[in-house]
Amino acid sequence: MEKITYTEIFYSLQGEGRWAGVPSVFFRTFGCNFRCKKFGRPRQEEIEGHNPEVVEILRQIESNPDQYKKFEDLPLVTSGCDTYASIYPEFKRFNDQDNVGTIVDKIHALIPGNTWDQGWNDDVHLVITGGEPLLAYQQLYPEMLDLCRERGLLNLTFETNGSQKLYPEVEEYLFNEFTRHGRDYDKLTFSVSPKLPCSGESWERAINPEIVKSYEMVGMTYLKFVVATREDVADAERAVAEFRAAGFGGPIYLMPVGGVPQVYNLNTQEVARLAMERGWRYSPRLQVDIWRNAWGT
Ligand code: SF4
Repeated sequence: MEKITYTEIFYSLQGEGRWAGVPSVFFRTFGCNFRCKKFGRPRQEEIEGHNPEVVEILRQIESNPDQYKKFEDLPLVTSGCDTYASIYPEFKRFNDQDNVGTIVDKIHALIPGNTWDQGWNDDVHLVITGGEPLLAYQQLYPEMLDLCRERGLLNLTFETNGSQKLYPEVEEYLFNEFTRHGRDYDKLTFSVSPKLPCSGESWERAINPEIVKSYEMVGMTYLKFVVATREDVADAERAVAEFRAAGFGGPIYLMPVGGVPQVYNLNTQEVARLAMERGWRYSPRLQVDIWRNAWGT
């Protein structure tokens, strides 16, 4: 494998989790092992095939192909996976494919002064997201990260669903080279969003304490649960108990469901309160607050 299929590369503020508000370049890879088609939909709903909103979008594309020429032309959704164009094969043609050198050139063209280090303790972070970014493309990340480190890259975050093992050579690279044998442990973040039953994914596939614990051996790791109801929070508690029993020691975040303001704004206060009651952290979605989650934010 020499090329990576990806949905978008953009410069924005990190909207979620530990580094919310930090200027970051996002590299969104194509492909995911999950579908999460029930986010924002009733639990009891039976969904055959794709999320219904995605089915409707595909129908619109077929009847109006001239209206949907590039990724940015696609509409946002209020339910299911909010990065649907990064997961369904039918949208692959809206994605790009490049080798690592070209991708790094595109990334570097976006950062101020073409350097990650902005001086005075400020630096731009790199976020590798998806889809699920730890699928097979991970084997190309050491080469990609070496090129970024030549221009001063210090901070890296993987946004993952926590179901994919690191390849041994990638784990070794991250530990030996990126964090310099753990001395820069804090500069590598695994932002893990395990999928709860409200996503529609099965517990057995989605909750993987041993895999997440292995990330924690390499870099700072936290869990971020997307929730809408008390039932979701009860599921998060059950999952946290499993992660803790396996020895996971990182912090826990709750984040409101909602890729668009009309859904997100429904439950921010309630989710904040539920997080506080448990001594957990609250994650905003700044990309929804500030930019209404438009593509490229
Ligand atoms: S794991 Fe993330 S990218 Fe994959 S389908 Fe679920 S929400 Fe979408």
